Amino acid sequence: MSEESPDLVIDNLKNIQAKILVSQEKHFQTMGKNQSVELIAVSKRQSENRINAALAAGVRVFGENRVQEAQNRWVHRRAVHPDLTLHLIGPLQTNKVSDAVALFDVIQVVDRVKLAKALANEMASQSRQIEYYIQVNTGEELQKSGIAPKEADKFISYCRDDLKLNVTGLMCIPPLSEEPSMHFALLQTIANRNEIVKLSMGMSDDFEEAIAFGASAVRVGSAIFGTREP
Ligand SMILES: *Cc1c(COP(=O)(O)O)cnc(C)c1O
Repeated sequence: MSEESPDLVIDNLKNIQAKILVSQEKHFQTMGKNQSVELIAVSKRQSENRINAALAAGVRVFGENRVQEAQNRWVHRRAVHPDLTLHLIGPLQTNKVSDAVALFDVIQVVDRVKLAKALANEMASQSRQIEYYIQVNTGEELQKSGIAPKEADKFISYCRDDLKLNVTGLMCIPPLSEEPSMHFALLQTIANRNEIVKLSMGMSDDFEEAIAFGASAVRVGSAIFGTREP
């Protein structure tokens, strides 16, 4: 695996942050209530050196897709950086709910009744207030997590009103083979209809397009850190 030098991570970061600012200014009218776009640095399967470089550059918001990997990477770093914000962006099994609620500040992958119920129970027992995003499978792909778009309204109100989960956002991962903009537009429509303000959409290849459709947070990994370990 090629080792990215800390300098390269810093250059990449500056570049992405500048592009976010440009897109933000260009699209501020469509951004509605989201006056600025949050950059979530996706640190999954990245080396310690690269992560330390991002921390040294002031990055405090990170995304991870596996609970155990995130624990190994972040529990000790939290002690040094109490101002970290950690987002879970990968599928969550119900047997990992307790660890996930203990570690993450935002769980972006709420997508089924069983998981939502387990999160509500866990929240009560840990008395920890975190934010939840509903993941919507905008491409209706069989292999992908997320609630189907036509089930979304009902599921959002179930999580919010019946389970009292603190639902603040929606998240989607468009199909690889399709133009992402229609998926971003669909997520924005569902959010508006349900008065949800935060939209997590856009990755290394399409974050500028996501901002044009009202993203409040973009999840960027390889464009900051370089290629991931297998
Ligand atoms: C890995 C991952 C990302 C980051 O992908 P890049 O293409 O490296 O920016 C974003 N979102 C999710 C859900 C991911 O799993």
